[in-house]
Amino acid sequence: MGATRIDGNACGAAVEAALAERIAALASPPHLAVVIVGNDPASHVYVGAKERACARLGIRSTRIDIAEDADYSEVVSTVKKLNADTDVNGILVQSPLPKGMDEVAITDLIDPSKDVDGFHAQNLGRLVQGDASGLLPCTPAGVMRMLEWANVDLSGKRAVVIGRSRIVGMPQSLLLAQKGADATVTIAHSRTSDMAALCREADVIIAAVGRSNMVMPDWVKPGATVIDVGVNRVDDDSEKGYHLTGDVHPDVGEVAGALSPVPGGVGPMTIAMLMSNTVRATEMQQ
Ligand code: NAP
Repeated sequence: MGATRIDGNACGAAVEAALAERIAALASPPHLAVVIVGNDPASHVYVGAKERACARLGIRSTRIDIAEDADYSEVVSTVKKLNADTDVNGILVQSPLPKGMDEVAITDLIDPSKDVDGFHAQNLGRLVQGDASGLLPCTPAGVMRMLEWANVDLSGKRAVVIGRSRIVGMPQSLLLAQKGADATVTIAHSRTSDMAALCREADVIIAAVGRSNMVMPDWVKPGATVIDVGVNRVDDDSEKGYHLTGDVHPDVGEVAGALSPVPGGVGPMTIAMLMSNTVRATEMQQ
């Protein structure tokens, strides 16, 4: 691979090292509550990784398991209880919720000052108003931190974000375009025409779609920075029965100037930024 590898593990470790000092300065360690509803195997893997990160940093974590077939009202009452608990600084309800449960309504039920996922309408709304000082969505905030860490200058550069979801693509586009970052952003999605030509114009491409190896080498301008957010499970003959791929074809590494890998790129950054939000929420509350 000719491109510089933007290593999310190394960048995440630097974020965590800086957090350790802030945690030591707190009156009491932060406390994160993670609510997981149902048996989705990937969700359990993600929650396990979040719990391990808390343990590494001395952040207290409490996991609340709710059965797949539980009533929606049980999730609502759990969030309300955690909102009222002054010993809890951060609340995260792991996505996805079982079919029929309204994820956006649950998110908006979380006390915005404890909303460590950064998805509450009040926190996303602040971002739209140009204020990025609050609790920001972890994955796009992690991408911004990686770009900064890799010394990627965004000012006046053309960025294409592929994907416009509430949790990744849309807040990512806002963060890239905010004052101080100053990229010129195009938001692409499933109805975008001639994606390849659009991407070839870009200095920075952020792929957040969920389609294995979608971004091909001939979509990428030589020297461009490419951040791969996608995580796709591809079945194979291995013992596990699958492997993970990103949205970016590995051969893009021969054309791009810098590329974040999957795994080992945005994933660890998302967790590091969750830890960062938990510490920030605690600082604000204390
Ligand atoms: P999502 O809610 O499914 O959104 C996917 C977006 O991609 C949508 O905006 C969709 O467009 C767009 N899209 C779908 N097919 C497309 C196509 N053929 N061409 C262009 N755009 C297309 O997914 P998400 O939650 O944003 O997640 C995106 C990916 O990031 C997934 O692989 C997910 O697993 C991964 N992810 C990784 C992390 C991490 O920590 N590494 C965190 C979050 C998500 P429409 O709006 O038109 O439907």
